[in-house]
Amino acid sequence: MSKFLSQKLLSLKPYVPGEQPRDKKYIKLNTNESPYPPSPKVVSAINSEEIKDLRLYSDPDLKVLTETIADYFGVDKNCVFCGNGSDEVLSFAFLAWGDKGVTFPSISYGFYPVFAQLYNLNYTTVALKKDFSLDLTDFDGKGGLIVFANPNAPTGLSAPLSSIEDLLIKNPESIVLVDEAYVDFGGESAVSLIEKYNNLIVVRTFSKSRQLAGARLGFAMANEELVSDLNRIKFSFNPYNVNRLTAIAGAEAIKDDTWFKECVFKIINTRGRLTAELRNLGFNVIESRANFVFAEHPQLPGDTLYTKLKEKGILIRRFNIKTIENYSRITIGTDNETDRLFDVIKEILQEVSK
Ligand SMILES: *Cc1c(COP(=O)(O)O)cnc(C)c1O
Repeated sequence: MSKFLSQKLLSLKPYVPGEQPRDKKYIKLNTNESPYPPSPKVVSAINSEEIKDLRLYSDPDLKVLTETIADYFGVDKNCVFCGNGSDEVLSFAFLAWGDKGVTFPSISYGFYPVFAQLYNLNYTTVALKKDFSLDLTDFDGKGGLIVFANPNAPTGLSAPLSSIEDLLIKNPESIVLVDEAYVDFGGESAVSLIEKYNNLIVVRTFSKSRQLAGARLGFAMANEELVSDLNRIKFSFNPYNVNRLTAIAGAEAIKDDTWFKECVFKIINTRGRLTAELRNLGFNVIESRANFVFAEHPQLPGDTLYTKLKEKGILIRRFNIKTIENYSRITIGTDNETDRLFDVIKEILQEVSK
């Protein structure tokens, strides 16, 4: 860093994304992207006319995209806010509502503590239970901004909607932000509650279940006043936060519901297979509601599995956190990729048992 860097940023520890190596072609099961391409309707909508229109700024109100999302989810268009990835939406939320303190789970999405540090917010964490589940009543009375992912990452476990409603009722002075990045793979969404509770914000992404991680698109659904808070920040930061091509891709992806459902269906099926077969090989696998599984093997240390898989061309994700250091997070790939993964894990198990 330079000597000019703001004092306030000296202790900031930036987020470390999952690796995207270019040295050879890997089977990428490390960043929870979709193994399937975007809908053909997305591909054909990004045509040369639209590319020529890149000389123009994007619509600062993102009217078409916002209305498409609002129609799909059955909410008012003033209740939708779109961002440059859900990371931007989360960042704006921390900035908008975090100054009375932020609370999130001790093990969850690694960006939460980074945003808190970036904006100099006080934050506390609530511990997961022994079985890695999250007891939402642990957030009671924390005040400020409450943030959690449901289903949670990297565990894949989800909390029932009734427990979210209890949290909202008991903490009317807190903002409750539910990060639903993985909800399409089997969680219960809290969207139905946004009309009833003015302290709820639901955040979604196009990166995991809608095949658009590289387009950078996320959104929030909440009551009109919370959305206007986010717009206040957006229009003080970057009014054109979603680019023209991404806005088109997002609207087309929402409209092609058949494609979306087919991809989600395939991923859920493959997840079932992966879970069962890993268990056959002696892994302890947490029952996942997401597009990844979280698993450990009693005879195979997490770092050994990671290193050996990488040598053999397969990337997975692990975390240097004491309580989960033996666990691996494996993104659900295609069936072919999963077959290859099984073969390679079998080889590794044989190597280590020698
Ligand atoms: C992937 C992920 C995000 C970020 O999504 P983008 O829209 O790609 O920025 C946010 N929250 C959780 C829990 C995630 O896993």
